[in-house]
Amino acid sequence: MSIAFIDLAAQQARIKPALDAAIAKVLAHGAYVMGPEVGEFECQLAGFSGIKYAVSCANGTDAIALPLMAWGVGAGDAVFCPSFTFAATAEVVPWTGAEPVFVDILPDTYNLDPQKLEAAIVAIKAEGRLTPKVVIAVDLFGQPADYPAISAICQRHGLKLIADSAQGFGCTLNGQHPGHWADVTTTSFFPAKPLGCYGDGGAVLTDDEALAERMDSLRVHGKAVKSDIAGRTFDHDPKYLNMRIGMNSRLDTLQAAILIEKLNVFADEIVRRNAVADRYAANLPASVTQIPSVIAGGISTWAQYTIEHANRDGLAAHLKASGVPSAVYYPVPMHIQSAYAHYPKGAGGLPVTEAKASRVISLPMHPYMTHAVQDRIIDAISGFNG
Ligand SMILES: *Cc1c(COP(=O)(O)O)cnc(C)c1O
Repeated sequence: MSIAFIDLAAQQARIKPALDAAIAKVLAHGAYVMGPEVGEFECQLAGFSGIKYAVSCANGTDAIALPLMAWGVGAGDAVFCPSFTFAATAEVVPWTGAEPVFVDILPDTYNLDPQKLEAAIVAIKAEGRLTPKVVIAVDLFGQPADYPAISAICQRHGLKLIADSAQGFGCTLNGQHPGHWADVTTTSFFPAKPLGCYGDGGAVLTDDEALAERMDSLRVHGKAVKSDIAGRTFDHDPKYLNMRIGMNSRLDTLQAAILIEKLNVFADEIVRRNAVADRYAANLPASVTQIPSVIAGGISTWAQYTIEHANRDGLAAHLKASGVPSAVYYPVPMHIQSAYAHYPKGAGGLPVTEAKASRVISLPMHPYMTHAVQDRIIDAISGFNG
């Protein structure tokens, strides 16, 4: 039997009757855009993460753009983010006219290095060309960034903090979700993410009511929202008022209906993912030079189980020949990509990021992995002596 990198079929088999019923219900009522399931899911998502407001949107990339747009980030502004991440984290920054500033990561967790972040902010301020505005921390591979340290730096320098939790949605640090520290948490429902739908989707979460309202407006072409309308009278339907330049970024009703069913089993799936991770950690051979280490007090959602190996490409080829799928996240850091190489970097460059890019390899990881399958994966790694 072939080994799945992420086994979405096993999850689907578990909740199939509920999914079928949820999809049939949407087909029956026909409200395919902004139907009742969208608001229902937003409430449940907010409840899950202990954040007051959830605004769903079309994907996890737009989710990061929405708060930047709502805050009016633009030309002349600096947005600090890691380079060792999926493109979307940095991509949305130039959309607004602002510039990403790439900061190095910690060697054990792959997440933003707070000391290097602070040094980069100080250097950008001293240079004077850009105004520091926002930090985007990423919960890479599922584990929370060092939010207590990062949020203290943001407060000291008057910067907003976004938690890009596309991979880490559901993760906690000392029992708190990233939104405990971040002004905004964003996530993606791309199918392979820990909480995924059957297509594209995303969400933005915040405790700031005015910000949530502005992002709700922006995702529907800058439509008039309650605070725009309050105390005014109109001689036409205010539905067609466009108060600000927005975009079209809605979560489909069908996807919301599917996500409601997936959210029901999500907490249990995080527990299962952690059991798989623990079993890898206990049984991987010593030839693996680094197994994942989670920040003290942190619980990861294990979007990826990423190890390091001195002969990464040799191991990848050996695994492929043994029928074990693997993947490399990320072979080319953002600050080296041709479209991004001209943007500012933290002082001293990004040596940790560059070293990691040639050593990391991610193993199959999902909540429904059997011991037998995991043993085959571990045996294949043990059998590699390159
Ligand atoms: C997947 C991902 C995104 C973007 O999500 P999409 O839904 O694919 O747009 C953003 N940031 C990180 C870290 C991701 O892994």
